[in-house]
Amino acid sequence: MSKTSKSADLFAKAQQKIPGGVNSPVRAFAGVGGTPLFIDRADGAYIFDADGNAYIDYVGSWGPMILGHNHAAIRDAVIHAAQQGLSFGAPTAMEITMAELVSELVPSMEMVRMVSSGTEATMSAIRLARGFTGRDNILKFEGCYHGHADCLLVKAGSGALTLGQPSSPGVPADFAKHTLTATYNDLDSVREAFTAQPDQIACIIVEPVAGNMNCIPPVAGFLQGLREICDEFGALLILDEVMTGFRVAQGGAQAYYNVKPDITTLGKIIGGGMPVGAFGGRRDVMEFIAPTGPVYQAGTLSGNPVAMAAGHACLTVLIEEGNEKRLANTTKRLANGFKALADKHGIPLAVNQVGAMFGFFFIDQDSVTCYDDVTKCDIERFKRFFNLMLDKGVYLAPSAYEACFTSLAHNDKEIDATLEAADFAFATLAAE
Ligand code: PMP
Repeated sequence: MSKTSKSADLFAKAQQKIPGGVNSPVRAFAGVGGTPLFIDRADGAYIFDADGNAYIDYVGSWGPMILGHNHAAIRDAVIHAAQQGLSFGAPTAMEITMAELVSELVPSMEMVRMVSSGTEATMSAIRLARGFTGRDNILKFEGCYHGHADCLLVKAGSGALTLGQPSSPGVPADFAKHTLTATYNDLDSVREAFTAQPDQIACIIVEPVAGNMNCIPPVAGFLQGLREICDEFGALLILDEVMTGFRVAQGGAQAYYNVKPDITTLGKIIGGGMPVGAFGGRRDVMEFIAPTGPVYQAGTLSGNPVAMAAGHACLTVLIEEGNEKRLANTTKRLANGFKALADKHGIPLAVNQVGAMFGFFFIDQDSVTCYDDVTKCDIERFKRFFNLMLDKGVYLAPSAYEACFTSLAHNDKEIDATLEAADFAFATLAAE
């Protein structure tokens, strides 16, 4: 019997009632083949599948679990909040505390509105930018993913790329035509779009470190260049920090790269594992949303008390002295370790790492800076590597187009074990 037979049984059963057996596409292991693991529980750096196997986890629920799984501070905060009632549909003091904390950590977010997912955050930010500027068009980058709102599912990354459908059926061409796309890390392509339509583009939305076409940091001057172009043409700059917020640095990628957006979107870590997103920014822009302004935006469960409690506990622990540096050091050690081992076995590999996110590419070039580079990677080799690592008890992001994440629960023991597994996996690839 296979060591994951329970997962296989569950997957077969799930497919009868749930499209593809999963509630979000990349979970289906579409990018790596085989059966997705069904997870029973998770603790610290480890997840445990339905068959009881343990894995060192570099997915971290796709980003939120930056303290490690099942962290006592978050668990206790959630239990306490749940005992007071699950949802009121009325304001609570914790929403103010969270808005203040977020503003303090990310000062460009002068005002903050909570929502329930990253998709809601970006969708609302786009509507706000359009309403504020009175312009219809937006500009995004090929291979960047900003959730699954219609206007943003154009040349998108993440699961859309993994499934080979970066632009989705169901998005009317009439909507999609308002989404212009440019090349990540290529300011000329952005300037070209603005020169063609100097007064029609409401905003640029960008992942300040792209994490949905694997992991691609901005080249020097790219984000500053976007800021300048927005200022020149009267457009707003939206930094989508759903993934990078509190992960690349405590103040997000905007602190790390010293760029000030008009609007920031957050998700993942801000909810500590509960469904939360947020958008915020310049006071004059944020006051344009209802009820102070004309741009409508709402949510029955927005600012949910249990979710706020989880997010608050997560951020409170995360910002403790030394944690930011420790996360970055752990991640750097891992990324450099992968590179050194690949070199040792003669496997061409490029690695990118910023803060607590990293990516690796089976490609024979030193740097990977845009979507076109990513498409040149050896996807079959990635699949093989992923499955060899999984078999050794390491759970990497199950797609060559996703970034990997570390947490504060990833200590030397876990990094050593991961590198040992990688040594074996690269050696196996070299022998094939
Ligand atoms: N923006 C970015 C940068 C993301 O990485 C994601 C999700 N991976 C989203 C938006 C959408 O967030 P959610 O899945 O919570 O809707």
